[in-house]
Amino acid sequence: MDHSVLDEIMNRTNRDKLAERVSRAAEASLAAQGYVSALDVLSGIGWVEPSAVQRWRQGQVECLERVTQTNLSRISEAMKLFRVWARDKGLLPSETQYVARTPKRQKLRFSVSGDHGIEKNYRTHWVSPALSEKKRERVAAQASRPPDLVVIQPTKDMWTCHHCGGTGDLLIMENPGPACLRCVGLGDLVFLPAGAALLTRRAKALSARSAVVVRFSRSRGRYERQGLLVEPQALAEAERTMEVRQSA
Ligand SMILES: [Zn+2]
Repeated sequence: MDHSVLDEIMNRTNRDKLAERVSRAAEASLAAQGYVSALDVLSGIGWVEPSAVQRWRQGQVECLERVTQTNLSRISEAMKLFRVWARDKGLLPSETQYVARTPKRQKLRFSVSGDHGIEKNYRTHWVSPALSEKKRERVAAQASRPPDLVVIQPTKDMWTCHHCGGTGDLLIMENPGPACLRCVGLGDLVFLPAGAALLTRRAKALSARSAVVVRFSRSRGRYERQGLLVEPQALAEAERTMEVRQSA
């Protein structure tokens, strides 16, 4: 057998194997959440580790492909197989936004090239047509919502902001270390203690920037939610609407 024929057969075998891995990962995510994303597939076949996804979501790596453990042509092959699989299943495309879990909320980049079409393919979630239209909309909205920023109330007194060398009551973890809220542009936010669920929900909806405040409980061995940081005008507005309702 000449080499080119052998190469062709090898290529086809590898492609079939990859197709099987892609469809298995995609099936699992579809069953679990009612939709599948490219990220689900790349994670599901083991090409991106959860810790790498986390760093990417926190804006600490340039793009997802940089932390994907295979070459670009294999990734693009898998993406193609994923789209074919999704269309064959009759899934519905839904374009979503991916923003970083950082105060700047910058758009996350997937591809090394940054090509518009490739980015769009990565951002497209494939949704089960079995879900009702309402449920589909909810799933899409949920997927697009940026993850909450997390601010820590330190249990130890001494910590130093890696930007300004200062300290404070609250800190946010960045790649090089803890940072004070002033240095990350959240210094003006006000604290709303946990408990007032309705007020919290309203203030959060009205606030362009917000962050969940947590504190480590030594007795329980985990972080616990203390409240929410919101923009002062959002809190004032939320309080006003609730007073109006109460007096009505
Ligand atoms: Zn600082």
